[in-house]
Amino acid sequence: MQILLLQLLIFPIEEILSSLKLKINNHSFIENAMHDPHSVMFITKRPEIEMVSGHGSWLVDNNGKQYLDFMQGWAVNCLGHSNPGMIAALDTQARKVINPSPAFYNAPMIELADLLTANSCFDKVFFANSGAEANEGAIKLARKWGKIHKNSAYEIITFDHSFHGRTIATMSASGKPGWDTIFAPQVDGFPKADLNDLASVEKLINEKTVAVMLEPVQGEGGVIPATQEFMKALRKLTIEKGILLIVDEVQAGCGRTGKLFAHQLFDIEPDIMTLGKGIGGGVPLSALLCTDAVACFEPGDQGGTYNGNPLMCAVGISVIQQLTATGFLEEVQAKGEYLKEKLLQLSEKYHMDGERGEGLLRALKLGRDIGPDLVESARNNNPTGLLINSPRPNLLRFMPALNVSREEIDQMISMLDVFLSQAPK
Ligand code: PLP
Repeated sequence: MQILLLQLLIFPIEEILSSLKLKINNHSFIENAMHDPHSVMFITKRPEIEMVSGHGSWLVDNNGKQYLDFMQGWAVNCLGHSNPGMIAALDTQARKVINPSPAFYNAPMIELADLLTANSCFDKVFFANSGAEANEGAIKLARKWGKIHKNSAYEIITFDHSFHGRTIATMSASGKPGWDTIFAPQVDGFPKADLNDLASVEKLINEKTVAVMLEPVQGEGGVIPATQEFMKALRKLTIEKGILLIVDEVQAGCGRTGKLFAHQLFDIEPDIMTLGKGIGGGVPLSALLCTDAVACFEPGDQGGTYNGNPLMCAVGISVIQQLTATGFLEEVQAKGEYLKEKLLQLSEKYHMDGERGEGLLRALKLGRDIGPDLVESARNNNPTGLLINSPRPNLLRFMPALNVSREEIDQMISMLDVFLSQAPK
């Protein structure tokens, strides 16, 4: 204790914390205290700013600085920050009833489920709170279906570099490098194939296989779209083998690709689909959809305290109504093409490797590992910051609001042009 007091007088706090860290056996709470001055649990490094308000494509921090937001909470705020339709839905529903309990129907739950089934090939909807929870539901549903129809088959083929969430089962389903060991042992039953390689899927199919699950566009893996040829052949193969096709559209669904649902780009009908992020436009709402033939949950199999609560479902209705308004998705497609052209021009100017993506989920292939530095200099830029994301060091990802304007795209591109001109060659 005396030594500690002496140190307090002599050393700056960071040095004391790091010397303590050595003495107290690397206790992670010391490390956390170094990274996070607040009582918020340390799970990621955050800049010392607080976001206080948002409107459309713009966020404002506690110093009044404005940021052009091309990240939108990782493709969550599909209608931008504080969308008026969503605010009205929240306000109206909050005054009626917030959560009567999942033991009862409520009007927004029924209306949103009807809207989703009317606009898709699915017949039944279960509402949840996060993408991971919807995917857990999809895994459970496929296993239950396998138990009933396929002699208890339970394996679900997933893909390298895929991302399905952060629960233990969805981490096991994910193909993110390193996730197989981080919280070992994993949940069994998720053999990994290679995206766009049908033979790699065929090789893994056996009597234990119940489903194949994939993102039509791998988002966290680096914005890698499945090819037309692969998706069509995969649907054909899964039908031939009598196994389910599950699409995880948590990131790529809800208008992000220019279609209401990403699998519609391929003109296929999957058996199960999960939605998250965009469906709530920023509030915690997700959904598990399936065809009648697959809907085999029995009472007690699936549920949750907040599932289908009217407050979130009311927001979901407003989101889906806005996404399906006449001309909206056509505009997303047109703006996706516009963003693509502009990114290709930048790529040519700075001798990069082009771009890829669908609709307004796009990535610029930088050709070298400057992504994290660009993200930081863009955010720190003054007087106006730019929020972009680098899922891999050699990539920048763009997930603007689906109602972003062409002027905002132009502004993002001209800011990025400056940052690229200053990046190390
Ligand atoms: N699935 C995909 C394709 C995702 O991109 C994500 C999140 O990025 C998830 C699932 C997990 O969603 P959540 O973070 O809402 O649990």
